[in-house]
Amino acid sequence: MSFIADYANWFYLIGAVLFIMTLRGLSGPKTAIMGNRYGMAGMAIAILTTFFVAPAPESPVVWLIIAAMVLGGAIGIFRARTVPMTQMPETVALMHSMVGLSAVCIAAAAVLHSGLHHDSLHRFELFVGCFVGAITFSASIFAYGKLAAKKWAKTIKGGSVKPIQIILLVLMLACGAHYFLTENLVSFWAMTGVALVLGYYWIAPIGGGDMPVVVSLLNSFSGWAAAGIGFTLNNTMLIIAGSLVGSSGAILSYVMCKAMNRSLFNVLFGGFGQTAVAAGEVGDAKPKNYRSGSPDDAGFLMSNADSVIIVPGYGMAQGRAQNAVKELANTLKEKGVNVRFAIHPVAGRMPGHMNVLLAEADVPYEDIYEMDEINSDFASTDVVLVIGANDVVNPAAKDDPSSPIYGMPILEAYKAQTVMVIKRSMATGYAGLDNDLFYLDKTMMIFGDAKKVVEDMSKSINGGH
Ligand code: NDP
Repeated sequence: MSFIADYANWFYLIGAVLFIMTLRGLSGPKTAIMGNRYGMAGMAIAILTTFFVAPAPESPVVWLIIAAMVLGGAIGIFRARTVPMTQMPETVALMHSMVGLSAVCIAAAAVLHSGLHHDSLHRFELFVGCFVGAITFSASIFAYGKLAAKKWAKTIKGGSVKPIQIILLVLMLACGAHYFLTENLVSFWAMTGVALVLGYYWIAPIGGGDMPVVVSLLNSFSGWAAAGIGFTLNNTMLIIAGSLVGSSGAILSYVMCKAMNRSLFNVLFGGFGQTAVAAGEVGDAKPKNYRSGSPDDAGFLMSNADSVIIVPGYGMAQGRAQNAVKELANTLKEKGVNVRFAIHPVAGRMPGHMNVLLAEADVPYEDIYEMDEINSDFASTDVVLVIGANDVVNPAAKDDPSSPIYGMPILEAYKAQTVMVIKRSMATGYAGLDNDLFYLDKTMMIFGDAKKVVEDMSKSINGGH
């Protein structure tokens, strides 16, 4: 086994290359499974190598590490097997929080280690790694609560929020700088405590539609925190893996901001979420008219159409309707209808949510179109079937400058000849906004759970054969 320790850097290099191949693989649905396998292989190599490099094999700490790995692995396997797809976003947020907490614990262990002398560079790594980890931890816990709709994760509002954020930031940096200059432990703990509070105050005012960007940004933060730990532990693999996660998360945040036509600064320090929630709370005073129909009506119209575009949203995930949706698409195709799927980058509750569900149901990749590829086709499409989507087809984003989502690109479903919307009620979507698409003359609302309604549509089309 000393062979592994002797060639540790070579093994780390292989691990790093596998991680880069993972990111490459994850960039497209066809290669994603292979990408995951590269990731698993890279991680196995990284863990094994570190295991043989780091502690002396006879040290009792080895057993603590093994016990922690077995326990963590068991929890991870259990969660991976039982988590429904709809709870993946909050699970991801919770995992980010664990990375943040690890960074804090490792920095604290290094600071408390009596045998270690910390030179100025080391102290700098410790203080930055620790506060990034602490902010990531508390912010991710709050993001988890928000995505899981927990009562305690309420959006905070008001003019006092920004001054509090600034005071906390200055206080945290001042305590960190004092620790850096004097090695004073009280300052170190004070910095950690303030960073935990700052994480909460940073995320809590951000609400509604900005959550996707926040989650990918926390992903980036957790990567940088891990890279920081890598410096503390002098572990090259962790520095590389952390930097890869940090930079890919930052790129994803940028891509998502572009998809929502917003600047990162505006998302993090602007008021989009607050306004969106407020609009939902106020509600619309005047009742508006809408038209509703049955799955039979919808089935009849679709089977007589030349082209149908299906727009899935969070409701499809919530209703676990993806397999039924695939059956419906097949039924329509057998009738000679041209059926395509249109995916909005933030449909659902995490990036790629809809792609994952449709892939799980074996919908062919060539039937799935990204927003930019399909938006110009809506006007020449006979029927758009919106399944549990709301914000991503809200025309207010295009034509109502007073709307909080004004400027965000949407799937232009409202341009189709006929629009059908499956949802359970007239309730708002995630951003808490009413949707004028539902009140158009050409729109038919079909109320009910997505899976049941879609199954009834298929039955009706087949029965009328
Ligand atoms: P929305 O959340 O806007 O709307 C979903 C709709 O689905 C609701 O109006 C709901 O209406 C309906 N619905 C819920 N359950 C069911 C069900 N079982 N059967 C039928 N309908 C159902 O979803 P979109 O996908 O349009 O938009 C995503 C939103 O989430 C955006 O605001 C986005 O910013 C945000 N977000 C996205 C993340 C991401 O990374 N993709 C992460 C976090 C947030 P009803 O209750 O009447 O049934």
